[in-house]
Amino acid sequence: KEADLHRLLRYAADRFSMFGEQQDVQLSLDVPDQLPPVFIDQDAINQVLDNLLSNAIKYSRQGGQVVLQATANHQQKRVVISIADTGIGIPSRDLKRIFERFYRVDKARSRGQGGTGLGLAIARELVQAHGADIEITSEWNVGTTVTFWVPFAQGGKAG
Ligand code: ATP
Ligand code: MG
Repeated sequence: KEADLHRLLRYAADRFSMFGEQQDVQLSLDVPDQLPPVFIDQDAINQVLDNLLSNAIKYSRQGGQVVLQATANHQQKRVVISIADTGIGIPSRDLKRIFERFYRVDKARSRGQGGTGLGLAIARELVQAHGADIEITSEWNVGTTVTFWVPFAQGGKAG
């Protein structure tokens, strides 16, 4: 379905502003005033945003920053969405397995944060159902950026 991504992103940030404040993590939105309409399953993309924003805040430190950013790529007819944090990061040896179901990096380090290790696996499935993909870059102790894209409405296809 054609969707107003701007509103979707604003609402996602709103859903997490309280959780961010509780963890002393500042969440900000960097989205242009105008974004082309995208063809997406809104419930699915909301779920993706929830999984990624909850990770970004959960695996941050006090005083950390999370930026939810979107930019239109007119050549590739897609909107690229990224969630960048200044959190604990992921060791490079774990990165290639991080999208696997139930895979979690060393439980001890996550300050006893609960979780099942499904969030990223589900996010990837939902993004791939749009004929798109999701990527992660991270540096241990520096931060993590997760990037995915969604297709423009014209000529787009969605799952
Ligand atoms: P769930 O999302 O099911 O509640 P989870 O957060 O452990 O549990 P995923 O979201 O799939 O599971 O993440 C898998 C693992 O990847 C996490 O346990 C954590 O070790 C690591 N991880 C994910 N996102 C980040 C991030 N932004 N910064 C640092 N580590 C992360
Ligand atoms: Mg998670």
